[in-house]
Amino acid sequence: MEHIYNFTEEKFKEYFTKIGEKPFRAKQIIPWLYRQKVTSFNEMTDIKKTLWPVLEKDFKFDELECITKNVSSDGTVKFLFKLNDGNLIESVLMTQDYGNSLCVTSEVGCNMACAFCASGLKKKVRNLETYEMVLQVLTVEKLYNVKISHVVVMGIGEPFDNYDNVLDFLTILNHPLGLAIGQRHLTVSTCGLVPKIKEFADFPLQINLAISLHAPNNKLRDSLMPINKAYPIEELFAALNYYYEKTNRRITIEYILIKEVNDSEKEAYELANLLRGMNVYVNLIPYNEVLENPFRRSTKERQRKFYDILKKQGIDVTLRKEQGSDIAAACGQLRSKYLDDKR
Ligand code: SAH
Repeated sequence: MEHIYNFTEEKFKEYFTKIGEKPFRAKQIIPWLYRQKVTSFNEMTDIKKTLWPVLEKDFKFDELECITKNVSSDGTVKFLFKLNDGNLIESVLMTQDYGNSLCVTSEVGCNMACAFCASGLKKKVRNLETYEMVLQVLTVEKLYNVKISHVVVMGIGEPFDNYDNVLDFLTILNHPLGLAIGQRHLTVSTCGLVPKIKEFADFPLQINLAISLHAPNNKLRDSLMPINKAYPIEELFAALNYYYEKTNRRITIEYILIKEVNDSEKEAYELANLLRGMNVYVNLIPYNEVLENPFRRSTKERQRKFYDILKKQGIDVTLRKEQGSDIAAACGQLRSKYLDDKR
């Protein structure tokens, strides 16, 4: 049996061809799944009745069980979901003036081991399958009776370490007969897996790419993000330039501000020099403190100073408004838990 929310239009076409049906059935089934949101085939009235039992035998409609929901004072909602195998994951709903944005988890645990991040405290257990990411969106829409207009793959996990499933997920979200979330409303964030950034340059959808940089030189980045030892800044930036040449799309650079670690004037100038001439947009994120590590949030003054330097150096920059930190739903505060985990 296949998980139905794993299927892109392409995969449905292959399936229908294989069972001797016309590939156009793919286009019939997608609106039922993502517009009407039915969860049985006998509701799909324009699909012939004789096909229903075949589909029933081949596909299952999974669900995500919502264990808890935490609502922040700013309206941000964190959902704790249980997967079929008992693993727990989190998704975060942020209501913005431009719409509803969902932060989606891509892996159970994470192997990237960034020193400052809570998600990497638990080693990766497994990739999420496409359907488990799709269900985060569908379930939140159902539970909250909202339309998700933006999706960021910035929850637990490294999306480019689960590349194929994540891209199928984004392809499904974008399908015009389905949820139809615009390409530019979709963002994937990576800590810098160079070969995948190059591969992503050739991906046909115009999805936003965000890079977790967090340090302007290799020495500091090595100490914060082990991935930098495999793909140092020179290689990362060569990949970003390649990506830009191919796609002409502006890249978002994420930079968390950690007190007296990466937030000095020296680092601000260094960052400006590194980025000068590139078509990038810098998102400064005040660090969210995590119990298990010694890092602290940059002070308001240091944040401001860092921002001002970049601005004066002609870099396009914003200082991110933070959401959900009172319920540990902010960047880097999500963690994979298990039912038997007493934490
Ligand atoms: N693995 C991907 C996706 C995670 S996105 C990536 O690295 O991009 C989550 C973002 O939050 C990343 O930019 C991550 O570096 C950042 N982050 C991690 N811990 C944080 C913390 N404690 N405070 C603020 N941001 C944090």
